[in-house]
Amino acid sequence: MFDKILIANRGEIALRVIRACREMGIASVAVHSTADSDAMHVRMADESVCIGPNSSAQSYLSIPAIVAACEITGAQAIHPGYGFLSENAAFVQVLEDHGITFIGPSAEHIRLMGDKITAKDTAKSLGIPVVPGSDGGVPDIETARKVAAEMGYPVIIKATAGGGGRGMKVAKSEDDIEVAFRTARSEAKAAFGNDEVYIEKYLQKPRHIEIQVFGDGKGRGVHLGERDCSLQRRHQKVFEEAPGPCITPEERARIGGICAKAIGELGYSGAGTIEFLYEDGEFYFIEMNTRLQVEHPVTEAIFGVDLVRQQIKVAAGEPMEFDQDKLSIRGHAIEVRINAEKLPNFAPCPGKITHYHAPGGLGVRMDSALYDGYTIPPYYDSLIGKLIVHGRDRHEALQRLYRALGELIVDGVDTTVPLFNALLQEPDIQSGNYSIHWLEKWLEKNL
Ligand code: ADP
Repeated sequence: MFDKILIANRGEIALRVIRACREMGIASVAVHSTADSDAMHVRMADESVCIGPNSSAQSYLSIPAIVAACEITGAQAIHPGYGFLSENAAFVQVLEDHGITFIGPSAEHIRLMGDKITAKDTAKSLGIPVVPGSDGGVPDIETARKVAAEMGYPVIIKATAGGGGRGMKVAKSEDDIEVAFRTARSEAKAAFGNDEVYIEKYLQKPRHIEIQVFGDGKGRGVHLGERDCSLQRRHQKVFEEAPGPCITPEERARIGGICAKAIGELGYSGAGTIEFLYEDGEFYFIEMNTRLQVEHPVTEAIFGVDLVRQQIKVAAGEPMEFDQDKLSIRGHAIEVRINAEKLPNFAPCPGKITHYHAPGGLGVRMDSALYDGYTIPPYYDSLIGKLIVHGRDRHEALQRLYRALGELIVDGVDTTVPLFNALLQEPDIQSGNYSIHWLEKWLEKNL
């Protein structure tokens, strides 16, 4: 097992990894930008190294700075968290060249899934059902027109290199296709430096269902059920739950089985998420994320497992402790993403936290790097905490969420807490009756 792990991230996820390290008796190294010298992950880690100025490009994304921090501190492995370098195959390659272990899959698997067209082709070849769409990239507007007409409108144009909901445009009819195609391309170029796009059938009322998978890198794969992440704003998740309110045990076993088998066949190592749209009882693969997800705690809650611990074990070459037959679901869990944002426009709202109080009690987990007097810097993501609740059933989880939100105090900045309090009053949320479009429609009417 490793003696020391460096965490190439910040915020709540850095804390999450430090906690796992500590429980395993592994020393932790935090890295930080100058803006983050007072951050909680720096305070909580055993050691810390400043790796650059405020901008992410020069700090949390700087491969040379992170490798140097590893060499200075003697850390043997790096946990990338999510975002930043977590799905950067070049980074993994550099680490390999320096003899540092990356806690995650191989560069090859990251590359395979990072390109969404290759990912879809791979999924198809592994027997995973995919969303109907163009055969690979669509080079020009004439081809786009032809493909869309054959497929039937509405269609969605998506960036091959996409992520974070960027570079995605819907065309409802032939009239929209040109503008949608051109904007998707220019957005993709600006965000990812790659303007290749592809076209998919736009599903009308699907749910976003994702399967948590785990591989030992030696041919064994398991699944840990699904998460329903349909409540989204601008294709970004805000509320996630497990198990999915509309997924039956038979469906879970079927799609989970397909995913676990695929992960085994790929020889995939560590945690991954296979994302689907789910409509009328059918699953359609959209992409795979080759990292720990923001919403992983809902899965941890219902299965009673520690995914980060397993990631570390597998990366160190130890056997994974998951056995499909012994993995069983207990109760229901919900996570809400607490962002420092001002409603109704969700404008980022960085600033000083004058008072912070985390909720507690049975079935409540608050993952956050906030503390009294902390100043949220304006340079990074607006996620400041995740509130996760676990109950015996969905009803209890919802009640517990409402109770815990009432206990949470974040003074000094605006947050998305009022949004969740309002959502919990909605009959559709109470009954679990929502698709990926529900929240956008609700926001238009209510905010
Ligand atoms: P990203 O990697 O940018 O997050 P995804 O491919 O994971 O992009 O899609 C993000 C979200 O966009 C999905 O959860 C869903 O809400 C919406 N979406 C993506 N593809 C489709 C589609 N074919 N039909 C309808 N909605 C889609």
